[in-house]
Amino acid sequence: MPKSSKISIVVESIFCRIEERVNSNGSKQFTDEEILTLHSVFGATLQRAFEILEKYPTLETYSNCNNGRVLVEIKGENDRCYRVFPRINFCPCLAFKHQVIEKKSQLMCKHVLAARIAMILDRIVDHKVTQDQYLMLLRSMFEEQNG
Ligand SMILES: [Zn+2]
Repeated sequence: MPKSSKISIVVESIFCRIEERVNSNGSKQFTDEEILTLHSVFGATLQRAFEILEKYPTLETYSNCNNGRVLVEIKGENDRCYRVFPRINFCPCLAFKHQVIEKKSQLMCKHVLAARIAMILDRIVDHKVTQDQYLMLLRSMFEEQNG
């Protein structure tokens, strides 16, 4: 098994544990221990993800009425916005391309991390969209990459 996929299994299990804890006691906040754990895994990226969530306390999500798939929208600098899938480690941003894919110096970019945190802490405003609207959002996610 390649190293990168092993790491993501560990990361996924950390998120799942936190998610279970949040759902079981209803406190929509990370404990100090959880923040330390996440920080040891993500370092500065965690800080940047928290900065996004400070600026935008709730994130918009778009869920497909037909199959329940969800896209999370994160506003970036210069009025750009990034759309990511809550449980898939992919983002069209440059940091993801350079630091996650090429250099492998980060496990996730701040957008994917912020999206995951917002989902876990229920800091989202969901919009139901049709299949066509969902596909349009999905397509624009890849078009913006080149723009
Ligand atoms: Zn990103």
